[in-house]
Amino acid sequence: MDNWNAKTKLVHSGTKRSQFGELSEAMFLTQGFAYDTAEQAEARFIESGEDEYIYARYGNPTVRMFEERIAALEGAEDAFATASGMAAVSGTLFSMLRAGDHIVSAKALFGSCLFVVEDILQRWGIEVTFVDGTNLDEWRAAFKPNTKVAFLEALSNPTLEVIDIAGVSEIAHAAGATVVVDNVFATPVFQRSLELGADVVIYSATKHIDGQGRCLGGVVLGTKEFIRKTFEPFNKHTGPALSPFNAWVMLKGLETLALRCEAQAATCNLLVDGLAGHNKLKRLIYPFADGHPQQALAKQQMTAGGTVLSLDLHGGKDAAFKFINALNIITISNNLGDAKSLITHPTTTTHQRLSDEQRADLGITDGFVRISIGLEDGQDLLDDLKQALEKA
Ligand SMILES: *Cc1c(COP(=O)(O)O)cnc(C)c1O
Repeated sequence: MDNWNAKTKLVHSGTKRSQFGELSEAMFLTQGFAYDTAEQAEARFIESGEDEYIYARYGNPTVRMFEERIAALEGAEDAFATASGMAAVSGTLFSMLRAGDHIVSAKALFGSCLFVVEDILQRWGIEVTFVDGTNLDEWRAAFKPNTKVAFLEALSNPTLEVIDIAGVSEIAHAAGATVVVDNVFATPVFQRSLELGADVVIYSATKHIDGQGRCLGGVVLGTKEFIRKTFEPFNKHTGPALSPFNAWVMLKGLETLALRCEAQAATCNLLVDGLAGHNKLKRLIYPFADGHPQQALAKQQMTAGGTVLSLDLHGGKDAAFKFINALNIITISNNLGDAKSLITHPTTTTHQRLSDEQRADLGITDGFVRISIGLEDGQDLLDDLKQALEKA
């Protein structure tokens, strides 16, 4: 099974069948598990083996199928699923860090990740240094003897900066720190962060893994040692377990993940070609597009440019709002990785909390919009974007 290719793993890995031999994975909607004898219960609390469960906050067969399938895809020794992507991010950092420790983080982060690192960690006595993630010299200068974690989004939101995972990992490992990568934007289909050097990889399964905008979920992947000794004790006692229903949706989502992401990336390429040089655009940002500052690194690190593209319009907020409001197919929503194409204006929504200086520093201007490409026909999307740009 280890030498299966990704698409085969996405359909078959982790499947467990009950005595009924059901073809599609069963949804085990149960909180608890019954024991045959008191001795069996005692033994399971000392150490639960494969396919032995105690309570759904600790594990559940449907959740386990999801964990094993994504671990197989990612090439990780183990995985632990969580109630949301933020439960995965915060649980990872809280389980690894204690007061007096230091973390180095890329500054271009998903809004809630930024809140966890900037506000909560510092409030709890953990020192934080933010760096420009694309600048290896800044990473190199930031590590200290008490640095425990390097944290980054390999493809950042919403500016789609590409961070050199191998480069950061080499620096972090030399300093004795663990590299944690939030890989949502790059997707598990297009980027193999563990092979590039990362130690822990996190997904919000809410995005591409569900892929149809239904359920919240998350997952943390790493070594068996990390998952079982560090992450699991924290997560199973603090509470954010993935519900079996959501796990079942995610498990079935994995079966079509590669097909969906490849179709979305192909549409991104079509849109990049179709919009290149448009007179209403100051910038068109896509990691594989000509003119992206890290295009070469993106092509080395990813097998496609992802499913999101960003535009910077001439004319600021007024032009951006007119453009967004004129779209007929692309829907206004701050979500991403959905079957439906979605557009958001970060300055007034997801990144509203940031100061003007922080936004300027990250390259998020008033004319900036982020578009998550869905599964609609590419030509229809291009026509929609073009007619709306005329109104901007
Ligand atoms: C959405 C997202 C998260 C948080 O995931 P939730 O499932 O919404 O909690 C974290 N990081 C990135 C990069 C995301 O896009």
